[in-house]
This record gives sequence, structure tokens and C-alpha cells, in this order.
Amino acid sequence: MGDKVIAIDGPAASGKSTVAELIADKLSVPYINTGNMYRAVTLFALDSGVDLKNNCSDAAFDELLQKLQLDYKRNASGIYEIELNGEFPGNGIRSPEVASYVSPVAALPVVRAWLSQKQRDFASLGMIVMEGRDIGTVIFPESKFKFFLTATPEARARRRLGQDGENFDGATLESVAAAIAERDRIDSTREVAPLKPAGDAEIVDTTDMTIDEVVDYITGRILNNDSSRNDLPGAVC
Ligand code: C5P
Repeated sequence: MGDKVIAIDGPAASGKSTVAELIADKLSVPYINTGNMYRAVTLFALDSGVDLKNNCSDAAFDELLQKLQLDYKRNASGIYEIELNGEFPGNGIRSPEVASYVSPVAALPVVRAWLSQKQRDFASLGMIVMEGRDIGTVIFPESKFKFFLTATPEARARRRLGQDGENFDGATLESVAAAIAERDRIDSTREVAPLKPAGDAEIVDTTDMTIDEVVDYITGRILNNDSSRNDLPGAVC
């Protein structure tokens, strides 16, 4: 069933979220941001008083996850948004504190197993855009549409610095670049589902591309390859 999932993976600040959301909008299919799921688990742990600095372990999350109800629900505008114990956490999941702990949390096997199952369940929605680090490699290896977005570290740091919310006060290009590099290091060296392109993914270097160019390019690749969806806008059948 997961062959219809459009998998968009890539490192931090590679532009995945913006691009994935716009592609989903163009194709009129749901968009699922799996990074937000890892962020929501991290936020919940912090709010529950878990000392993530000294005790980021499977044992710390075993019990905690039993108290967490995580869903993706349509918000008032019809967009799928993460819901944490019945409430939309909004920008709380994008705080600098959550950003600094999310990679160690996402490296924990207990957390990954818990979220992976939830992510696979989305296959029942049919064609969707799912964005993350391991969608093409582990969650939906059978996907026919796999893209891995990259950009130079400098381009990614510039993009992230220009975004509100996720940076600590006084952040500089250097400090943002260092934070991104650290997340990439943890994400790509962890034992379970490390960040890497699937062997059959198309790598798209977005360094010198505008958002619209990336969106048009990927949407074009999908439409030209999906002869089964003649209901997609602009589909070539
Ligand atoms: O995409 P975003 O930067 O919001 O993801 C936050 C973190 O969640 C990543 O740095 C990574 O540690 C984790 N993540 C993951 N697997 C995914 C999506 C996100 O490990 N599929």
C-alpha cells in the first residue's frame, strides 16, 4: 500500500517541509511531517520533567509513551496537524529547546518503533506526501516516489537563520550552522534508521534552486511517472 507514498527525505534545513507541503497542496493529497512527530514526543518529555540532558534513554520513554496520545488530525483549515494528548501544540514543537534535544530522542529505538508504526498506518490514506529522514529507506521502502533533498551547509544555515522561532536569541550563521551539523551528525550516525538516501531515491540539490523550482521539478517527476492517477492535476496519461 505504501507504494503510493511520496517520500521526501533529507537533512535539517534542506527545505523539505516547505517543499513537501506545497507539493501536497499541488497534488491535493495529505501532507505528513514526521519530524513534527519526533518534536512532539520531545516536547512532551520536556513538559513532563524528563531530564533529557542526563537521562535520554529508552527506559525514560518506556513509561512516558504510555501516557502520550499522538494523532494527526485535520485542523480548522483542513490541514493535517499533529495533536498531542488532544491539543494542537502549535509552535511549541519548533522551540530552540525542542530542536536541541530532538535528535538524541529520535535516536532511541523505543521512540522510533512507537512512531514508525503510526507512520506506516498513514498508508491507508492512499497517495500522501510524507517527509522525514527514513521514509524512503525504512518506513515505506516500497514507495515509487523517493526524493532526497540536499543543499550546502551554508545554504541550509542561511535558510534556518531566516526562519523565526527555532533559533536561540543572538544566533549567528556560525552557531546555526554548528547546531545543524550536530543534528545531522546524530541523525546520520545513529544505529536505527540513520539519515541516508535510499538506493533508489532521486537526490535533488536545492542549493541554487528557488522553492518554486524545487516544487515544480518534483511535481513534474511524480506526474510523469504516475500513469495510474489520471485525477491528479496536469497528469499525463
Ligand atoms: O524535520 P525536522 O528537522 O523537523 O526533524 C526533527 C528531527 O526529528 C530530526 O533532526 C531527526 O532527529 C528526527 N527525525 C527522524 N526521522 C524522521 C523525521 C525526523 O529521526 N523521519
